[in-house]
Amino acid sequence: MDCIDEILLLFETRGSAAYLGEPLSQREHALQAAHLAEVDGASDALVAASLLHDIGHLFGPDQDDPAERGIDAIHEETGYAWLAKHFGPEVSEPVRLHVIAKRYLCAVDPGYRQILSPASIRSLELQGGPLTLEEIQRFEANPFHQGAVRLRRWDDSAKIPNLQVPAAKHYTAKLRRVLAR
Ligand code: FE
Repeated sequence: MDCIDEILLLFETRGSAAYLGEPLSQREHALQAAHLAEVDGASDALVAASLLHDIGHLFGPDQDDPAERGIDAIHEETGYAWLAKHFGPEVSEPVRLHVIAKRYLCAVDPGYRQILSPASIRSLELQGGPLTLEEIQRFEANPFHQGAVRLRRWDDSAKIPNLQVPAAKHYTAKLRRVLAR
C-alpha cells in the first residue's frame, strides 16, 4: 500500500466523521475544497493540498471538536508532518499555512470575518486571532503564502451540505503526479 492508497483508505474509514461543528463530513468538506480548487484552475499541487488540507483531523484519536473544549488541536501541523514525508513543499506548505492564512485574512481583509462560520470564529481565538503587522510581513515573505490564501478561501466555501462533487478517486492521477520522487 503506497501513500495514495493510504489517503483513499483514510477518507473511506475516517472521512464520515463530522467536520468539526459544520453540517457536513470531513470527506465532503475535503472533496468540496478540492473541487473548488480544480474549478478555479489551480495547479495539481494546490488541488492536492486542498483535498488534503485537513488530513491532520483524520489522524486524531477521537473525532469530537477540540475547539469546543477550548483546545487548539494544531491539525495543520499534524497534517503537514505527514504530507512532507510524501509530497514537496508546493503541497505541504499551503496545508501548514492554511490556519495562519485565516488569521492573515482576518487582519488584511475587512469583510473576511463576516463569511466565517461560527465554528471557524470560535477556533480563531484559540489559534491566536488576527495576525499582527510583524506577523503579516513574515507570512507574506513565505513563497507559498498566496497558495495558502487561495486554499483558505476554498476551505471556507467548502461547507455546503449534500453538494454533489467528484469522489476522492477522481484525484488519484493528480496526486500521483505531485508525489515527491
Ligand atoms: Fe478545512
